Amino acid sequence: MIKTVIFCCCLCLNYISSAQEVRIKLENCTLEPAVLKQIKGSLTFQLDFYAGIFKDKTKNSFRARVFGSKREFLTYSKSKADFNPLRTSAIAFYSPSLNEMILHTEVDNFASTFSHELSHAILHYYCKNTETWLDEGIADMLEDVILTDSVYTFDSRRIEKVLSAKKLLQEGASLQNVIDSGDFYNKTTSHRNYTLSWAVVAYLYETDTRLLFSMITASCKNPDEFIDMTYPGGLSLLMPDVKSFFFNNKPSPD
Ligand SMILES: [Zn+2]
Repeated sequence: MIKTVIFCCCLCLNYISSAQEVRIKLENCTLEPAVLKQIKGSLTFQLDFYAGIFKDKTKNSFRARVFGSKREFLTYSKSKADFNPLRTSAIAFYSPSLNEMILHTEVDNFASTFSHELSHAILHYYCKNTETWLDEGIADMLEDVILTDSVYTFDSRRIEKVLSAKKLLQEGASLQNVIDSGDFYNKTTSHRNYTLSWAVVAYLYETDTRLLFSMITASCKNPDEFIDMTYPGGLSLLMPDVKSFFFNNKPSPD
């Protein structure tokens, strides 16, 4: 009950209501109008994206708590969310138990980080048991979506991911390595895991969005075998296709 009261009180004072679907609690910080605009654009895109997958538009409100310093972020994460971000080098996260995105502004690109966590929050609303690699791959793709002149595009920072993915694919790295690694967030392999997961999602999104969508809904129903159930030829053909896409077509932007 106390939480609800605090929520209402803060709602009056310093919550920012964006499109009535995301509420941001600001803790000792402010967000520039340009950042809020990007967040709002991302929210609109993601609500449509997920409504397209799950055939149902959410009326849910998504909550975020934003701290003005990394120190406050760490303190809150450990005490309230029972999570130590330092263990996995997390710069932000979505807490299913608190149903809250938890972030701080001492990051390189706040709007992008926010968009990434927003994807986790919305996907979790629809589906509680997505495979981690798919959840992270989608979030890594959606964090780059930007609204420019009323058109959604991918930001050019994506180029870094393309280069990393090409290097890994050239070396023969596969989604199987990610699945086999068990702990997705292990510090020594997490960069590889994020990159390969993003590469698979980006490939599917840009070549066959419907297939990506059916893969996501299948993963909610059957997290163990959804790739073989949905991708023609299964995992053994998926990776050569991803590699061919990255070396022949390049994901956008060029
Ligand atoms: Zn993530």
